[in-house]
Amino acid sequence: MLAQCSEHCAHIFHSFRENVTDSSKIQELIKLSHEAKSYAYAPYSDFKVGAALLCSDGTISTGCNVENAVYPLGICAERTAIVKAVSEGHRKFLAIAIASDMKDAIISPCGSCRQTLIEFGTEWDVYMTKSDMTYEVMKTGELLPHSFTPDSLNSEKISNAH
Ligand SMILES: [Zn+2]
Repeated sequence: MLAQCSEHCAHIFHSFRENVTDSSKIQELIKLSHEAKSYAYAPYSDFKVGAALLCSDGTISTGCNVENAVYPLGICAERTAIVKAVSEGHRKFLAIAIASDMKDAIISPCGSCRQTLIEFGTEWDVYMTKSDMTYEVMKTGELLPHSFTPDSLNSEKISNAH
């Protein structure tokens, strides 16, 4: 019974991976992340970032960084894309692509964004691109090892005796 289940799950996982790594879908995602960058509101840093988030049903949610005169209120492109998607009913994600104008370096998500991404799973793909659309890809869990996740809140705790 267990073997059957594992086999079944492995099959589902395999199909899922094939779907995720479909290169034309990923190329589209990367292209959309670069397009989203053009909407960045970054008058203070002049560091424009775009993101495109692929939801499990194929929907793509885009985002850009949105800065503010009260500097700490600025939000990153990745979190804009996540917030947009979740607020429209999406909670399962397959991949996110991130774009910037850096000529020779890939754009890598900041610590806050890594924490936001890992809230929705440790095993989905982050495509960190260069301006020429080449990329490096890593899992959310690789980008934030030893992370605090929703499971952490459900861990058994010691009792607090007063
Ligand atoms: Zn960020």
